[in-house]
Amino acid sequence: MRISVIGCGYLGAVHAACMAKLGHDVVGIDVDEMKIAELSAARAPFYEPGLEELLMEVQKTGRLKFTTDMGAVAESEIHFICVGTPQKKGENAADMTYVDAAVTAMLPHLQPHSVVVGKSTVPVGTAGRLSDLVAQQQSSAHLVWNPEFLREGHAVADTLQPDRFVYGVFDGSEDHPAVALLDAVYSKPISAGTPRLVTDLPTAELVKVAANSFLATKISFINAMAELCEAAGADVTRLADAIGMDDRIGRKFLNAGIGFGGGCLPKDIRAFMARAGELGADQALTFLREVDAINMRRRSRVVELTRELCDGSLLGRRITVLGAAFKPESDDVRDSPALSIAAQLQLQGAVVTVTDPKALANAARRFPELHYERQLDAAISGADALLLLTEWNEYRELDPHDVGSVMVSQRILDGRNVLDPEKWRAAGWTFRGLGRA
Ligand code: NAD
Repeated sequence: MRISVIGCGYLGAVHAACMAKLGHDVVGIDVDEMKIAELSAARAPFYEPGLEELLMEVQKTGRLKFTTDMGAVAESEIHFICVGTPQKKGENAADMTYVDAAVTAMLPHLQPHSVVVGKSTVPVGTAGRLSDLVAQQQSSAHLVWNPEFLREGHAVADTLQPDRFVYGVFDGSEDHPAVALLDAVYSKPISAGTPRLVTDLPTAELVKVAANSFLATKISFINAMAELCEAAGADVTRLADAIGMDDRIGRKFLNAGIGFGGGCLPKDIRAFMARAGELGADQALTFLREVDAINMRRRSRVVELTRELCDGSLLGRRITVLGAAFKPESDDVRDSPALSIAAQLQLQGAVVTVTDPKALANAARRFPELHYERQLDAAISGADALLLLTEWNEYRELDPHDVGSVMVSQRILDGRNVLDPEKWRAAGWTFRGLGRA
């Protein structure tokens, strides 16, 4: 099939490469000339495991091209909208400028019977509004919503073999013409067993924000338990193991720590609350305000714990932060809790050095005032305290004896509860976890 992918960021670049891998002819379109130049040269403009290899593999087939020219959509029968929907400045709502601009720019090139497929995460009601614009331009064209659930760090596998597909179509019917078309796009994963659900448009839009709200709630739940465990002298990691053995609860997403961040969860729950308010259903989501507040409280808690770890004062303390990305295996620093903590420590007088295997360039663009050091040894050398804030494998595997030998004093705060406290204490370290005595 001939496919266009509009917006080639963390979602769109992976989607374009994966659609070509599935055998389709794909053109990726973006307004960012640098990104298009990188992708055209089969280089990933951001770090995502396996993406660069995939770009090289599929570009050799001639099935994947990139351009800044929106006119290229005229050659395709299916158009995936993958542009960003960030939080509006100073408001909780989603900024729909990019989605609206992308749709407006593509409409004049839309061919009869083509299908526009929304993948961006949008406020419920967006698809209905955009459907009308598509119908006015081409009465035989359709707009459907096919939300994306990929996880950064696993994006290629999640796109090629997702847990499920959700197709939102106008009448919610299996007989809608776009259903057969999407089935053809995804025929390989569907024949390999990926289930798909057909819903109406608002349900499909809500599935995505509901899923993210549930995940955010689960993380904030265990972080609230961490607060209680600290107050009561209990251990949240053992508590999570024990409640997670109940398969109605499950152990995943029950790791207490510095909380969630990234380009999705924080802004999605806020946009969901804002949209619920517009719909007169704000009471249904007041709990998300608490989920957000618990999450943000983690960051200030880590600053306080670091102060305690440094004998009550941060002034002039040399603190090394391990990790800048919002999660390991990504260079994405959007709303990264690690960087937000690093910046707060620096504001309070600490001398902060941040290290990360992949995210330092992005981090330096967001927080130019922080000091960055790519080499782990150099970053650690001479530090008064270490903070593990993004759980890259190389930080999980650190040897307390090796690290301790180059530090001024052996103090560590494990913001992700991934290290073995006994091992570090046995090596002479003062060790703090979150939600554990
Ligand atoms: P991103 O910022 O990495 O990418 C967005 C891209 O769209 C950028 O490259 C930008 O230049 C481009 N763009 C903006 N306006 C454009 C226009 N008018 N025409 C063409 N291109 C344009 O964002 P992202 O992380 O890829 O997220 C995209 C959407 O997907 C968001 O709604 C997000 O919530 C959703 N989503 C993201 C993920 C994820 O893990 N990143 C997962 C699921 C869903």
